[in-house]
Formats: sequence, C-alpha cells, structure tokens
Amino acid sequence: MLQSACTKNTLTGKSQLSLVSEKDMQSLSSTQYSDFIKTHQVVALSNSQAAMVKRVGVKISQAVDKYYTDKGNKAVLNGYAWEYNLVKDSAVNAWCMPGGKIVVYTGILPVTLNETALAIVMGHEVSHALLQHGNQRMSESLIQQLGGVALSVAISKKPAETQNIFMNAYGIGTEVGVMLPFSRKQELEADKYGLIWAAMAGYNPNEAIPFWERMQKLSAGQAPPEFLSTHPSDETRIQKLKQYLPEALKYYGK
Ligand SMILES: [Zn+2]
Repeated sequence: MLQSACTKNTLTGKSQLSLVSEKDMQSLSSTQYSDFIKTHQVVALSNSQAAMVKRVGVKISQAVDKYYTDKGNKAVLNGYAWEYNLVKDSAVNAWCMPGGKIVVYTGILPVTLNETALAIVMGHEVSHALLQHGNQRMSESLIQQLGGVALSVAISKKPAETQNIFMNAYGIGTEVGVMLPFSRKQELEADKYGLIWAAMAGYNPNEAIPFWERMQKLSAGQAPPEFLSTHPSDETRIQKLKQYLPEALKYYGK
C-alpha cells in the first residue's frame, strides 16, 4: 500500500515526494537508457558534434562531482555512471535520466548553435536528474494512474504503463500519451543549478539568456519544439535567469 514517502533532496535540502527509491530509479533508468540507445541512431564519436556532446558532458559531470565533494555529499553520486550520447533525431530535445544518462538530439543543435549553449542545456537536464524531478513526476503518475502501488508491483503487473510513466517523467517522447510539462518551480530550480554546473565546467553562464530567447522564438512557430512542451518557458524564466547569474558567475573562470 501507499506509504507517505518523502525524501530530502541533497541540493535543495527540501523534502519532496518520492514513492520510488533513487536506487530503483537508477536501475530502471539503466535499462530504459540502454533500450533507448539500442533503438535509436547514436552518432559516432568521430563526428565533431558527438565529440562536443561528450566533451561537455564530461566537464559538467566533473563539475557536479566537485560540487558534491566540496559539500561533503559525494556519496549521493555513488550510483551515477555517466553516459552522454548524441542521437540522430530531428526533435528539438535533450534529457538526463537518474544516474547521469544523458541524450542530446541532433535537432536541438541548430538552437544551441554553440558549445556554451549546449552546456546550458545539458546543465539544466542534469539538474532535473539531481533534483529528482523525474522521481517526483513518476511518483505523482504512479498515484494518479496506478493507485500508488510500489514500483515492483507496477513493473510486474503493468510493465508497459510503468515504462511509459517513466519515459514521460523524463521528457522522453513516447508514442502514447501527452507529454507532461515540468512545473515552473522545477524549471527554475533546474535553471539555477544548471547555470552553476555550466560555469564550473568553464562555460559562460550568460549564454543562457540568448539561448532561451532563441528557444522561445521557436514556440511561436507551427510546431513548437518538444523541448518546450516539457520545459515550458515564458518571460519569467529570462528574468529569473538574470537573477541567478551573479551566483553562477562566482563559479566561472575559477
Ligand atoms: Zn527543464
């Protein structure tokens, strides 16, 4: 049966809904990630864009590692086995599953335009994973759609639904169902920490402003990018990003 399940997130120190343990999320993510990689066209590292995704991913993960180590929280990252892949897909999208499993779609590169903006995007996605936003979203869906059963029960009784809930919780396009947007609060949190990872990784966090302006321009088009349906954006985001910049800049160029 459903138990009241809240855990404290290491980054924010705030308590949040999580029906699923981080360990279970990471193990589910490991399976789902390798399935995704097997069924999509991964761009070889000989390609300069794929190499760029890896280069940014390595630097961001090193920044996260350093931040957690400096705060005495390195153990939180024990289950992390970072992976960074560029997949050939025209969708404007990117995501990170728990345990540091990152995918960038080739479709987002014309919007990022440069390596620094890519670091802004990847920093943002990594933050969603570290902040356990997918876990919160998955927990909410398990309650709404499957009556709050335990993950093991959900997987054994309703494998397809459970898989779909998981993919949806991480902003990964699925055939079924509508993509759930991250909440505004989750978006702002991911922006705040994402800027710090990018800055620590050696990328100028100021680039977040022109990047999000480019992304928002696309929302006026006929087919708004998938990324914006899961990461809703408005004027508030740009204003908040500007507020977060001074803090992030303290980590830049150190
Ligand atoms: Zn987001």
